[in-house]
Amino acid sequence: NFTHSNQQHQINGKISNYDSKANLFARRQKIQHQRKSLPIASVEKRLVEEVRTNDTLIIVGETGSGKTTQLPQYLFNGGFCHDGGIIGITQPRRVAAVTVAKRVAEECGVELGQKVGYSIRFEDATSSSTRIKYMTDGFLLREALLDPHLSRYSVIIVDEAHERTVQTDVLLGLLKSVQKARSRSISEPLNIDHTKANNGSLLKKENAVQGVSILKQHRGRRFTPLKLVIMSASLDARSFSEYFGGARAVHVQGRQFPVDILYTRSPETDYVDAALITIFQIHLEEGPGDILVFLTGQEEIESVERLVQERLLQLPEVNQKLLTFPIFSSLPSEKQMKVFMPAPVGFRKVILATNIAETSVTIPGIKYVIDPGLVKARTYCCQTGIESLIVVATSKAQALQRSGRAGREGPGKCFRLYPESEFQRLKDSTMPEIQRCNLSNVILQLKALGVDDIVGFDFMEKPDRIAIVRSLESLYLLGALTEEYKLAEPVGNQMARLPVEPIYSKALILASQFNCLEEMLITVAMLQVESIFYTPRDKLEESRTAMKCFSSPEGDHQTLLNVYRTANEFLEKSKIGTSKEKAEKNLRKWCKENFINGRSLRHARDVHSQIKGNVEQMGLRVTSCEDDMLQFRRCLAASFFLNAALKQPDGTYRVLFSGQMVQIHPSSVLFRTKPECIIFNELVRTNHNYVRNITRIDYLWLPELAPQCYTLQESESWC
Ligand code: ADP
Ligand code: MG
Repeated sequence: NFTHSNQQHQINGKISNYDSKANLFARRQKIQHQRKSLPIASVEKRLVEEVRTNDTLIIVGETGSGKTTQLPQYLFNGGFCHDGGIIGITQPRRVAAVTVAKRVAEECGVELGQKVGYSIRFEDATSSSTRIKYMTDGFLLREALLDPHLSRYSVIIVDEAHERTVQTDVLLGLLKSVQKARSRSISEPLNIDHTKANNGSLLKKENAVQGVSILKQHRGRRFTPLKLVIMSASLDARSFSEYFGGARAVHVQGRQFPVDILYTRSPETDYVDAALITIFQIHLEEGPGDILVFLTGQEEIESVERLVQERLLQLPEVNQKLLTFPIFSSLPSEKQMKVFMPAPVGFRKVILATNIAETSVTIPGIKYVIDPGLVKARTYCCQTGIESLIVVATSKAQALQRSGRAGREGPGKCFRLYPESEFQRLKDSTMPEIQRCNLSNVILQLKALGVDDIVGFDFMEKPDRIAIVRSLESLYLLGALTEEYKLAEPVGNQMARLPVEPIYSKALILASQFNCLEEMLITVAMLQVESIFYTPRDKLEESRTAMKCFSSPEGDHQTLLNVYRTANEFLEKSKIGTSKEKAEKNLRKWCKENFINGRSLRHARDVHSQIKGNVEQMGLRVTSCEDDMLQFRRCLAASFFLNAALKQPDGTYRVLFSGQMVQIHPSSVLFRTKPECIIFNELVRTNHNYVRNITRIDYLWLPELAPQCYTLQESESWC
């Protein structure tokens, strides 16, 4: 019997094997066909030659022409990795780095993490054999801290440069100087100090990856030249070309079918509802083709997803063939890939995306675009020094990019959920992020890279001087810089190396002194992810009751800690006697019952394990303050003192450092109690200035724990 069943199994195995091989072959052929038909494919040889002859090249090309997925492969085949060099491609967005790397690995027929891989904060899918490496621009900046010459890279492609994120802008400046330094090393005489080299041996090429210590010892080391490619979807190549000393720019033709643009007659009061109505209008009245809806963030996407599903159930069964696919940055990567899969026959896909689908990723099959004309953007107020994320109108350039997504494979339609007169009032293009964000993080990175003169740094567009001074000041107050604004050793360096914003890295470093690093690691991890609590509008009361089980009268930080720990205990318990998968499934169920956002919690656990690794590598002691939560709150006050606020007679709060007036967000556990003095982590600007993630502190702790910022006399005039 056993033999028989085994045989059967083998036969089955063979059949399915045969089947999957045939499938695989067909899929590979299809992919090769798709690759060849991309607009960029006809200029492969020319592009490789352009990179060979120009150290810096600007490539401008319409979205979807194949720049991101194809150029690295062309350069690999063109011999740019021959001596072991890596082709690095930076993306402003994590999702793009991950999904594109997966796609390119498949196109190359290799396993992800081998020849083709990606590295993003909190996630690494590369190995020593990786030659085409996708990463975020922030990741490459951090890598430069360990390898200032970026010596492992033969080519660096800065992709989506038109987005002008703050990290891209800093990277452009850095790459310019790395490129110069590497060319200089070639013309200088070789000067190796034999006595200092490892085992007295000369540095061989294979040793290049061995590490920083060797690199630093060989001051006279020769580097290969660094090739730079700047890719942009905007047609304005001039500014990039000028910045790189008149670098050559080439244009890759795209393919664009006509897109019918429709506007609403009057402004919409509720764009989420308007989007919902439009989705169903298209679904019921228009021909086949998928729908792409631009929304502003995870919460909105998840609520639209639920609303679509609810409304679908009210339709007759024949009309229910509509599938929703969300895509946003904190979505687990296996789910992100789902948006690229074709819908089953007879079904229509509706993709609910953040700005990510504007230019970073191209999803095949889109024929209809719904554009409410909004985007979540960082803004920074120089006077108060406070940065916040707010929903703002897109620019004309963004609106055009969005509508263009409907016309890639055939004529399409774009439904702008605002009147035409409003389009005319939009700004032509978006202001570079560097001119509207808190600069503390990048300034700390630059300082750690040895760039002391921030004002004199070769930025493509200089940030506001006041913004620079403000950030220098807050870095000094956090202890990352000295009074002369030089990097403070070792704290400044440690802070720069941790992959979180300076105030959080400060909190982690301080926590080891306050004996509560275990608690702080959890708290910081939970603060990096989007909304842990899930409060559906129709179950508001139930979700509030569920939240009460975790809430701490001291504030949201301890509440988050309680959620994390309770979830962990639950997971550990359910692991006993069952498989890991089953335990994870139980946890998902537990999250649902407790109105916890399972995805966010999982993300927080990943972040936690990475930053725990980081602080351990630094030699910090991970201990717990056990029940002494006073210690933990004091540590929060010592870390987040820049965000301390005092209650005013009318129940609002005044931020002590900036003087700004704020209110406690209704989602905070302290919304009703309104303590005298608080610290907070986030400012949300809607119709009010709301603060979130709050803990109650004693205001007398401020002069004691942050004397560089507060003195006792001042405290009397605080109110
Ligand atoms: P560009 O960078 O010029 O905007 P891309 O290289 O991103 O263009 O995209 C080229 C083509 O590859 C597009 O047709 C897109 O649909 C396809 N593509 C990219 N990623 C995937 C994926 N994960 N699955 C299927 N197709 C993809
Ligand atoms: Mg691209």
